[in-house]
Amino acid sequence: MKFNIITIFPQVLDAYFNESILKRAQEKNIVQINSLNLRDWTFDKHHSVDDTPYGGGAGMVMRVDVIHAALKDIVSNQGAKKTILLSAKGKKWDQQLAKKYSKLEEVNIICGRYEGVDERVTKFIDDEISIGDYVLTGGEIGAMVIVDSVTRLLPGVLGNKVSLESESHNKPGQLEYAQYTRPEIFVADEKKYRVPKVLLSGNHKEIEEWKTSKKK
Ligand code: SAM
Repeated sequence: MKFNIITIFPQVLDAYFNESILKRAQEKNIVQINSLNLRDWTFDKHHSVDDTPYGGGAGMVMRVDVIHAALKDIVSNQGAKKTILLSAKGKKWDQQLAKKYSKLEEVNIICGRYEGVDERVTKFIDDEISIGDYVLTGGEIGAMVIVDSVTRLLPGVLGNKVSLESESHNKPGQLEYAQYTRPEIFVADEKKYRVPKVLLSGNHKEIEEWKTSKKK
């Protein structure tokens, strides 16, 4: 699977993608993550990606012509693909959408900045996606959320496939049971915090029942 991310801060993304599970997924060629600098598609010597809004108003708006030039170059002609525009006004990202996207071969992601992007960009995308009801400075954190949540669903990325099935949100409303590890008794401020007895019992049937009862 391939992700192409259009941003004016590719280095912000690479810092996250080049660590841990996402790094290993790229090394194993399960996923290719390309952080692309939108300024490479600009038309002037200042590499401008934005301009003042028509009709007045605060801030700057990202230009449709520059974004379109980037999309024309990077979106492939074949294969199952989708292009996302990150936007505080978009459809809310969740695990079910992550599952749908994990079946695609190519996902292109546009990260907005400033006051957002020229509305005409929406004519060249498939989904306008929000990662929550708040406003971020830019789309880069959203791109990390999408790439991360999709990549960990790809076969071969996680060592243990079972962990995906019991995870929170695998089915709508499902929440994972509580997890514990050593020490068995943790003492802080003279108070003891114990691991539930059933997890120490060695009785697999009771442990499974406990885990299921803790899932919503
Ligand atoms: N003026 C815009 C509004 O009120 O909806 C907010 C623009 S925001 C400062 C700049 C960029 O950050 C957006 O174009 C978008 O790409 C990204 N962004 C901000 N909040 C987001 C969210 N909740 N989900 C996804 N992307 C977001």
